Amino acid sequence: MSDSRVLTCPFCGQRNRVQISAAGVPHCARCGKALPWLGEVSAADFKQAVEASPVPVLADFWAPWCGPCRMVAPAVEKVATELAGRIKVAKINTDDKPELGERFAVRSIPTLVLFEKGKEKERLIGARPAAELRSWLDSRLPATPR
Ligand SMILES: [Zn+2]
Repeated sequence: MSDSRVLTCPFCGQRNRVQISAAGVPHCARCGKALPWLGEVSAADFKQAVEASPVPVLADFWAPWCGPCRMVAPAVEKVATELAGRIKVAKINTDDKPELGERFAVRSIPTLVLFEKGKEKERLIGARPAAELRSWLDSRLPATPR
């Protein structure tokens, strides 16, 4: 089953259900603004959620026992909110989905992999503060779509 979760719109407070493998960028049902797009991705929906994503995907390879992963999680959520409409954040629990960790040769976590049009563009290994993560993304994401 594809992960879907209820996310609060940062603009108007409306609660919206957001599917990680939806075909298009999710928008708020009330105010129409792009919503932060974040969810857990499984091996089964990786193709739809990451490779077929209409926007670049930041894949966060993590595990529940990993302290630095817990440190980087709020930073990842913050950039998902700040870059709503321009990025999707795919959380990949490497304990549950070791095949995805192996496929992308993730040897230590947290590892953040930026995918564009289904291909790995670049990766960042280890926890980073939100500001550093944001500037790393800003210099790599395409210009804001019109
Ligand atoms: Zn809204």
